[in-house]
Amino acid sequence: MKTAFINAQIYTGDKNAPWAQALVIDGDKIEYVGQEDETKYAGAAIKDLKGKYIYPGIIDSHIHPGMVSQSSWHIKLPWTDDLGQVQSFIKEYTQAHSKEDAPFLYFEYYPTKLFGSTGPHKKYLDEACDDRPVMCQDFGEHQHWYNSRMLEAMGVTKETEDPMPGLREFVRDEDGQPTGWGKELVHMEEPFASNLCKAIGWEPPIEMTSEAMIPFFEFLTNAGITAIAEGILEGEAQMKSMYELDIAGKLHTYYDGCVRYYTLEDLPEKIQFLREMQKYNTKHIKLNTMKLFLDGTNESGNSASLHPHENDPTGTNYGEIAMESDELTECFLLCNKEGLDMHIHMVGDRAFRVGCDAVEKAKAKAKKQGVEWVCQPIFAHCEIVDPSDMGRPAQLGITVNWSCHWSGGYFGEEAMTFFTEEKWKKMYQFNPIIRSGALVTFSSDVVTFYELHRANPFFSMQVAATRVDPEFPLDPKKYPGSVRPPESAKLEVPVLLRGYTINGAKQMHWDKIMGSLEEGKIANFNICSSNIEKYPVDRLTELKWDAVIFDGEVVYGDIDSCR
Ligand SMILES: [Zn+2]
Repeated sequence: MKTAFINAQIYTGDKNAPWAQALVIDGDKIEYVGQEDETKYAGAAIKDLKGKYIYPGIIDSHIHPGMVSQSSWHIKLPWTDDLGQVQSFIKEYTQAHSKEDAPFLYFEYYPTKLFGSTGPHKKYLDEACDDRPVMCQDFGEHQHWYNSRMLEAMGVTKETEDPMPGLREFVRDEDGQPTGWGKELVHMEEPFASNLCKAIGWEPPIEMTSEAMIPFFEFLTNAGITAIAEGILEGEAQMKSMYELDIAGKLHTYYDGCVRYYTLEDLPEKIQFLREMQKYNTKHIKLNTMKLFLDGTNESGNSASLHPHENDPTGTNYGEIAMESDELTECFLLCNKEGLDMHIHMVGDRAFRVGCDAVEKAKAKAKKQGVEWVCQPIFAHCEIVDPSDMGRPAQLGITVNWSCHWSGGYFGEEAMTFFTEEKWKKMYQFNPIIRSGALVTFSSDVVTFYELHRANPFFSMQVAATRVDPEFPLDPKKYPGSVRPPESAKLEVPVLLRGYTINGAKQMHWDKIMGSLEEGKIANFNICSSNIEKYPVDRLTELKWDAVIFDGEVVYGDIDSCR
């Protein structure tokens, strides 16, 4: 079935012919894109778009389908810096929900700076609830606050070995007793999660099923997102669920997955797991990337920094790093040998440097050994990069991924606990990296339903283009207009569009089939009444898609209304 979209203004994303007026699709493929030409429309249903705009499908290059889909039972805390208010909320919630109905409570989002650098303590949570296990998660998503019952149920004691002392650990007091502060532990980390479930005879109320994943994928479809890259695959159940959705014709998103590993030691077994999961590959699903968390977050003080922490009088605390460049070099070499990409969470400037050093060394070694280099390094977050390292991604072929809705006040001034104000003001700067010629891609990195709306690309683009977060504005008395400094770090809309389309496709090695509107590519595109590049940047969030087309089918909106 052929359709010709005519009288349109088409942003093709093709450098050689950036704008076109007509698009002809046949089935799921683009047959023609170019000037109006009736000879190309033979046998096609004609849709007159009356001057409306067409853009390639949006690509979110780092998002968490599994985590979001499993988060709907988490309880949202009130957003406040007042510990008493947080405690009262938990106390009231506990009173309103019996232990039988809710044997375990998982609260989301206390401000990371609520407890300063000493971190949260179980005693404050025990005051709010001590009849069942309770866990609260910080806003930065990398720290947890447990009550005594929770530690008990997880089997965490003085004797418990930390998964990765220094970086991923249960913080201890002088006697070695866990204080109730967990750092960089996966939300429900094994074996602690199993211990908890066993201890209280409970299972998470949301099973990872295709049914449970539908709301997440529906959101993507309505937001015009037709392809995503995974942040962390949440096990086989997630792969199976997406596979089942796809077989049922309900997956309207191309998916590029990744499997997390922790050290050089466990990398081979995690690669083995990835190979097993490839049985779920389809036209829309692939799995080709390993994921590493190289450091923590700037707000928790466990990102790897080139400078000692501002609040550390000894001047010896530079944050944490999961491995140094020699080990990371070996990880890269192994991924390269296996033909896999590596997606790395890195936040601090030292993590960025270690990452670049490792890529440099690994490439040199591969060259010496006469091994072809095929592994694409993807550095996600890169929140603070030393200016001397900004040209390295372009030189080394590193893709830099930025969750651009963080560009304003989302994480507030919390990193200033550890950074000087001067350093804080250097965060989130991608223009020099873009100008140096590196591939920069954009994403939302959302992990729960509460923040899923921020994955709307128009919202993200607005924050990145203005450095103002409409939901979490910085104090306007201190930052005029709530603009996060420096102004020079604002991203231009054409840059954002490229990062959200063709660059994202390149990150996933899918640029031959998507990312731009060119003949032979898949018919993934969105129709909009407005020119995104000309729209006022502080109102981009108002924009909506009139229709979203995936594999040549309308999956959201209506193109007939365009006639
Ligand atoms: Zn992530």
